[in-house]
Amino acid sequence: MEVMKGSIPKEVKSVVAELEKQGFEAYIVGGCVRDMFLGREPQDWDVATSATPEEVQKVFPDNFYENKFFTVTVRTQASDPKLKEIEVTSYRSDLRYGDRRHPEEVQYAKTVEEDLARRDFTVNAIALGIGKPGFPRKPGFQILDPFGGREDLKAKLIRAVGTPDERFQEDALRMMRGVRFCATLGFALEPETRKAIAKNVSLLKEISQERIRDEFAKIIMAEKAGEGVETLRELGLLEFIIPELVEGYGVTQNKHHIYTVWEHNLLSLEYAVKQKWSFEIRLASLLHDVGKPRVKKGEGKDSTFYGHEVVGSRLAKQILSRLKFPQKTIEKIVTLVRYHLFYYNVGEVTEASIRRLVKNVGPENTEELLQVRMADRIGSGVPKAEPYKLRHLRYLIDKVSQDPISAKMLKVKGDDVMSILGITPGPRIGWILDALLAAVLEDPKKNEKDILTQYVKELGGLPEEKLRAISKKAEQERENVEMKRDEMTKEKYWV
Ligand code: ATP
Ligand code: MG
Repeated sequence: MEVMKGSIPKEVKSVVAELEKQGFEAYIVGGCVRDMFLGREPQDWDVATSATPEEVQKVFPDNFYENKFFTVTVRTQASDPKLKEIEVTSYRSDLRYGDRRHPEEVQYAKTVEEDLARRDFTVNAIALGIGKPGFPRKPGFQILDPFGGREDLKAKLIRAVGTPDERFQEDALRMMRGVRFCATLGFALEPETRKAIAKNVSLLKEISQERIRDEFAKIIMAEKAGEGVETLRELGLLEFIIPELVEGYGVTQNKHHIYTVWEHNLLSLEYAVKQKWSFEIRLASLLHDVGKPRVKKGEGKDSTFYGHEVVGSRLAKQILSRLKFPQKTIEKIVTLVRYHLFYYNVGEVTEASIRRLVKNVGPENTEELLQVRMADRIGSGVPKAEPYKLRHLRYLIDKVSQDPISAKMLKVKGDDVMSILGITPGPRIGWILDALLAAVLEDPKKNEKDILTQYVKELGGLPEEKLRAISKKAEQERENVEMKRDEMTKEKYWV
């Protein structure tokens, strides 16, 4: 295991050199050292030093220091965003993790070895000095690896520093970090470390949803995301992150499926990962059938899962809100889960129904919906994602996207309705617009000012009762078509 010459950026070298010039010790530490040994590009650069935060601030005036864990962020002139800020942390050791989240107290440590001992995994506890030991330093590197991190890098093992049981009790998030490093690096958990996680999973209850969310998101974005999520389940961690997903474990499906609900969800995720699709699509693929266990009726080849997309989207909303994902992310994923079952067969589906689909999903989400559907199909074990059908559907979506899909796009607006009928604002306007939209969704050619004006006049002459009924019927009609489509789906598709 060697560090390649030239793999350390000059900005990092200069931070280390400046500190040493002022008489302090400084080492590159943590994930970036691990990544350099693996020949991977580091995500960020961390330096550990014997200087106190105040001393670091004096050496690098362009800095900010806002947390209480001795980390000063030093700004550099680099154009690479990964190098714009370098974190410089004073040697420290962590004392008493009362809440298993944050050390209650941190205290300065005297040596870099002490600092390495408080780190989570051996592969993250290697320090790299620039230059050979001694003063002044001679060209070369000084590697401090007191816990055998390089051995574990070679063996592709994630092993806790020290006694695993204690380390996870200090900070329960480390359990998820361990799984995350396995998923991003393609490593395995060392058996004792693994055992200690399985024993301590329930401590995850004490970790904030935000920290859990961030680790979970990193697992989902990892190259081996599927394996990562499977490991979370095997160890029992998933029960404390998304218990709803665990419900699908071992749940067999009907004659259209060869996989259990859990296996199918995982395979769908894996396809989305293989395609390097976005975070939202990966998560929607993992969650798209989360509602199935709760709606399953019957057993064996004729069992059914009617309504699982509705229940699933409700569950997805609960899950993602609980994990405190941003509102926009939640909405997108919930929509993708809700409509993943859309019925489509070339020549069988009307443009009106595609128009309704685009309206429900939102024009900005249609491409993602197709991707989730492809992940769903491949995850079912079918050989192809139906390129022809999907190409055709894409073409139709494109075509109908030009058509009116919301009251906003009607050629006659609320204001027009008021002036045509000479009435003031009130619920009647909404009812009339509902009726117009229903007519136009059914036949876009009706979206002409003359035709709609005529229709408004007819509607305007009706008594309130009647008008209310028409608007209600228009809405029901829209729902009926959707239900009919769902019925067709149930028969023809794999539910
Ligand atoms: P990456 O930056 O690739 O996500 P990393 O290993 O650099 O991974 P960071 O969260 O950036 O992870 O942390 C930097 C280093 O700080 C880690 O390598 C590890 O040595 C230490 N560390 C971070 N979080 C913890 C923790 N919860 N417990 C113990 N040590 C930790
Ligand atoms: Mg890092």
